[in-house]
Amino acid sequence: MPSIVQVALPTPLRRLFDYLPPADSELPAVGARVRVPFGRQQLIGLVVALRDRSDVPADKLRPVTDVLDEEPLLPASLFELLRWAAGYYQHSPGDVMVSALPALLRQGRPAIAEPEYSWHITGVGRDAQIPERYVRQHVAMSALTQSPLPEADLQALGVEKPTLATLAEKGWLERRVISDAAAQPGSGASGALDLNDEQAAAVDRILHHLDQFQPFLLDGITGSGKTEVYLQAIDQVLQRGRQALVLVPEIGLTPQTIARFRRRFDCRIEALHSALTDRQRLDSWLAARDGKAGIIIGTRSALFTPLARPGIIIVDEEHDLSFKQQEGFRYSARDVALVRARKENIPIVLGSATPSLETLYQARLGRAEHLRLTERAGGATPPALKVLDLRNRRLDEGLSQPLIDTMNEHLERQGQCLLFLNRRGFSPTLLCHDCGWIAHCQRCDTHMTWHQGHNRLHCHHCGRQTPPPRTCPDCGKSEFVAVGLGTERIEQALARHFPDHKAIRIDRDTTRSKAAMADFIEQINSDQVDILVGTQMLAKGHHFPRLTLVGIIDVDGCLFSADFRAPERTAQLITQVAGRAGRAETRGEVVLQSHHPDHPLFRTLLTEGYGRFAEESLEERLAAGFPPGGALALFRAEAADPTLPQHFLQRVRDILKDMPEVSLWGPVPAPMPKRAGKHRAQLMMQAAQRAPLQAALRQWTGAIENLPEARKVRWSLDVDPQEVY
Ligand code: ADP
Ligand code: ZN
Ligand code: ZN
Repeated sequence: MPSIVQVALPTPLRRLFDYLPPADSELPAVGARVRVPFGRQQLIGLVVALRDRSDVPADKLRPVTDVLDEEPLLPASLFELLRWAAGYYQHSPGDVMVSALPALLRQGRPAIAEPEYSWHITGVGRDAQIPERYVRQHVAMSALTQSPLPEADLQALGVEKPTLATLAEKGWLERRVISDAAAQPGSGASGALDLNDEQAAAVDRILHHLDQFQPFLLDGITGSGKTEVYLQAIDQVLQRGRQALVLVPEIGLTPQTIARFRRRFDCRIEALHSALTDRQRLDSWLAARDGKAGIIIGTRSALFTPLARPGIIIVDEEHDLSFKQQEGFRYSARDVALVRARKENIPIVLGSATPSLETLYQARLGRAEHLRLTERAGGATPPALKVLDLRNRRLDEGLSQPLIDTMNEHLERQGQCLLFLNRRGFSPTLLCHDCGWIAHCQRCDTHMTWHQGHNRLHCHHCGRQTPPPRTCPDCGKSEFVAVGLGTERIEQALARHFPDHKAIRIDRDTTRSKAAMADFIEQINSDQVDILVGTQMLAKGHHFPRLTLVGIIDVDGCLFSADFRAPERTAQLITQVAGRAGRAETRGEVVLQSHHPDHPLFRTLLTEGYGRFAEESLEERLAAGFPPGGALALFRAEAADPTLPQHFLQRVRDILKDMPEVSLWGPVPAPMPKRAGKHRAQLMMQAAQRAPLQAALRQWTGAIENLPEARKVRWSLDVDPQEVY
C-alpha cells in the first residue's frame, strides 16, 4: 500500500515534494490537484506519483491539506509530456506542470465550465438614489454607469455577489451571460478550394498518415496556399471524430486567421487569444480536454492544451522565434510539439515559406517528409528582388533617389508601398555636435533611442525614459545631432517626399492599444493608405492585396551580427517581408538598399532563393558543429555586483569540466555586459550530440542549483538557446 504522495509544486526548485495522504481520506489519484502546506503557505500542485517510502524522515512529513480533483486533471499522455519537458529543459517540474494550467485551476477552482456574467445598469438604475453609507453599492453603480463590466472586474473593485444580487432585486442592475464569439461553432459556409497539383499531393501524403506519428515539413513559398492544405487535412481529421491543434506565431493569431477557420468549419473552435478572460480560458481548456471543441488554435502555450482525441498538430510559420519561450521555462513549442505528436501517435505538419535549418535537417535525415509548394496559389507571381547599391549615393533620411522614383511609379499605378526598418523611434543615437558625447543608458551598455514625437530618450532594453538634455553634460554646448534611422524619422521624410499620399507607421509605439492594429489593417485594405512604414510587425502573415512594392531600408544592419543564426534570420526576414509584395494580380517588386551588394547572402538568396541559401548555410553549420549539427546549452547569470556572475559561472565550469564529449566556452561577459543595472555573463556548453549534453545536465544541474554562489546571482539555463548573443 503506497503511503507517500509525491507532488509537483510551482516553485523554482527542480524536484518533487513528498507528503502524507490527507487525514482520514483516500489517496489522491495520480494527476489530481492537491493543496499542501509549503513552509508557511499553502500551495496547489499536481500528484505525480504514489510511493511506498520517502527519503524525508517520517517526522518531517506533513499531510496533504485538500484533494481538489477526484480524477486526473490531464490526459496521461500530456502529463507525461510535461514531465519529459521539465527533464529535457532542466526546469522545475512543478513550475512546468502548474503553469500549463489555466489561471483558475492554478488558483484551485473546480475544473468545471461555468457561464460568465457581465453586469449592466438598467434605465431605472440610472435614476436610483443610493444612500452614501452603502459604499459597495455606490462603487458598483458608478462603475457600471460608465460601461457594463464582467463580474470578475466588479469583484476586483471589492463588489461581491450579494451586493450585486441586492441591486438586481431592486431592478437597478441586470446580469447577462458573456459569450466568447470565438468559442461558438463556425459557420462552415465557405467550401474547400480546388487544390492545385502540389497542394493535392501534400494533402494526400498527410492523409496517408492520419493514424500514426509522422512529421511533415510543408515548405511552401508565401502565398502558395499552405493554409488551404492545413484546412483540408484538418477537415479529414474532424470527419474521423478527432481534434486538431494549430499553433501560430504570436503575431499570427489575428481575427482574420480565426475568421478563416470559422468560415470553413462548423465545429466548435477554441481560439486562445490574449483578450480571453480567465473564465473563458478555462472553458476553452475544458472544451478541448473533454472533446467538445474540434479545433484549438493558439500561440506557443496552446501546445499544452489537453485533447480528448488528438488527431493532428499544425505548426504554422515553424521558423518563427516566438515559438521559443525566452524566460522561465525556456521551451521550444515547435520541438516539444514534435515530441507530443510522437507520444500521441499522430501526424504533425511544420509549415513555412522559410523553414528553419533545424527542420530542414530533419527532412534531410528522413525524419520529416518534405512537401513542397513552389507556386503561388491563385495565379499570383512571386516578386522580383533586387539589391540597390547605396555606395556613394546621396541618401535623404535613409531614402535613395532610385527608391523614391520606384515608389512614385508604384503609387502612380495605384499600388501600395511598404518600407521596412527594424528600428522604432526617430534615431538610435543622439550625439553632441561639438564634442561627440552620446546619450547612453546609465543602467545598460547601450545608447538611448531618441523619440521625437514626445521628445524623450528611451532605452529599448530596460525601458528607462528621460527627457533629452538641453545642454551637453560634457561640454555644455547645446547643438545635438540625431544619428541613424528609426521608423519615426522615415515617416517624417515620407511626408516631405510624398505630400499627396497618406503614409502610416506601424510599430510598437503606434500599436499599443489592442484595437490599433486592427484599425490599421482596415485602413490598408480599404485603400485609405498608400505607404506603410514599419518594423517586423509588418513582416508576417498579413495579406495586403494592393501592396506591390517593398523597400528594405537598411538591410546591412542585419548582416553583421555576432550570432551564428544571424544569416538564417536575415534571409528569413527578407523573404518574409518580400512575400508581402504582389499577393494579388499585379507582380510585386522588392528593393533592398545595401552598402554591401556583393554580400554572399544576397548572391544565393536573390539568384537561387531561400531553399538554396538554407542548404548552403546548413552545410556551414554542420561543419562548424553548431545546431542542428550539434547541441548547445547556455548558462546565463546576472547580478548588481560585477564579479559575482563570472564567479558563479566559473564554479559551474569546474563542476562540468570533466564531462565527456562536452566542450565549455566561457565564462565570458554577455554581449550586452550590463543591462538594467545588472552585470551579465554567460557560459556555453556544446556537444556534437544531444545525449552527452543531456547526460551532463541531468547529472549536475542539482549540484549547480545548490552552489552557495547560485544564491547570490540570478541565473538560468537555456537548453537549445535560440539567441546566444
Ligand atoms: P500561404 O499560407 O501559403 O501564405 P494562403 O493559404 O494564405 O497561402 O493562400 C494565399 C491565397 O491563395 C489565399 O487568398 C487563398 O485563398 C488562395 N488559394 C489558396 N489555395 C488556392 C487554390 N487551390 N485555388 C485558388 N486559390 C487558392
Ligand atoms: Zn558636448
Ligand atoms: Zn537601459
